Amino acid sequence: MLNQEKSNQLFERAQGFIPGGVNSPVRAFRAVGGKPLFMQKAKGAYLYDEDGNSYIDMINSWGPMILGHANEKVQQAITEALPYSLSFGAPTAREIDMAELITSMVPSIEKVRMVNSGTEATMSAIRLARGFTGRDKIIKLEGCYHGHGDSFLIAAGSGALTMGTPDSPGVTRGTAQDTLIAPYNNLQAIEELVVTNNGKIAALILEPVVGNMGCIAPKPGYLEGLRKICDREGIVLIFDEVMTGFRLARGGAQERFGVQADLTTLGKIIGGGMPVGAYGGRRDIMEYISPAGPVYQAGTLSGNPIAMAAGLAMLRHLNDHPELYQQLESISNRIVNDLREVLGQLGLRYTINQVGSMYSLFFTESEVYDYDTAKTCDTALFGRYFRKMLEQGVYLAPSQFETLFVSMILGEEEISRLKEASLSSLQAVLNERPS
Ligand SMILES: *Cc1c(COP(=O)(O)O)cnc(C)c1O
Repeated sequence: MLNQEKSNQLFERAQGFIPGGVNSPVRAFRAVGGKPLFMQKAKGAYLYDEDGNSYIDMINSWGPMILGHANEKVQQAITEALPYSLSFGAPTAREIDMAELITSMVPSIEKVRMVNSGTEATMSAIRLARGFTGRDKIIKLEGCYHGHGDSFLIAAGSGALTMGTPDSPGVTRGTAQDTLIAPYNNLQAIEELVVTNNGKIAALILEPVVGNMGCIAPKPGYLEGLRKICDREGIVLIFDEVMTGFRLARGGAQERFGVQADLTTLGKIIGGGMPVGAYGGRRDIMEYISPAGPVYQAGTLSGNPIAMAAGLAMLRHLNDHPELYQQLESISNRIVNDLREVLGQLGLRYTINQVGSMYSLFFTESEVYDYDTAKTCDTALFGRYFRKMLEQGVYLAPSQFETLFVSMILGEEEISRLKEASLSSLQAVLNERPS
């Protein structure tokens, strides 16, 4: 058993002052059972908790730590920026460097606006698409996550094409009615929505590779099909690349799959670990943003100098080392192949989805390509596996419906430790299983 005495004490204290004891729900470990671990520090491939346990980190802050924790270049950039003050509320040269670099890395982005989180990026992109088209409705796909903006917190419902109903109390019926829902990887469902809402749809937003119901790849032709429908109908196609941006390629999923978005939302890696988001895209659409155009969007700390310093150091490194993506992919392939070998050895039925350095092990025999197929997973089994992996010193995402994020810093030692941990964890889980 893991010694987590200090974490437990901190969790106890946290619950007195913070709702559920955490500042973001998944961190509470509710989906996997047990209590959360409080982290003290991290370096390279390893997380260290308050009780002194260490873990190979397979979340990497949900993506940003793609180079490993406490990367020297990023830390150095922050250290250099610090003496110049933390914030001005006035423009700085670094923001232009950032914007130029983003537009050079992601060709569909001609202009870009910096914000402070992925949520802010998606909320702003939707408002912009509505302002630009003069239409109210948006299409969101079941199981995709776009942050916690009201328009996106819409339940999967009992099937495609149904009018959205709020998933969270506090989202008004009016807001929910403007969000249309369709299953992922299903072009026909989009065609039907377009017919029944003719001329009313401002935008279609999706994760071009889904990370938020576990990792799910677009089927061949799917993204191309969406692009065609959006072109035909004058719908703004928004790729939410908060997770995939700068991870699946320098230019994100759109580079990898060769399909361009009208607007792209970014987050996670873009701040190198600092709270940063961005949205950008076609010049004619972006010119609708205030003060260039009429759609209002602002931010006191947007383009914050310290955050920009960290983000720039991160993006420059990725931009200057395109070979990193190949390396990252081969590390990921090895980890996934090892996992397949272990699962095969144990005779476990499973599905693994992998796209580049994102992957998920699903405890189901079914192919997983949308929300309904993701729901076939044995989440209780996942929870037990998660706990065993922790005991073996591996920190996975605390839910079946999350992707894992491989970092560049995983070396031979970590790769073989991962394989050993998977084997003994899965073996233990199988032995416990009531037959
Ligand atoms: C994480 C995430 C968001 C939300 O970003 P925050 O910075 O947490 O607000 C939005 N979209 C996708 C695809 C994400 O993975």
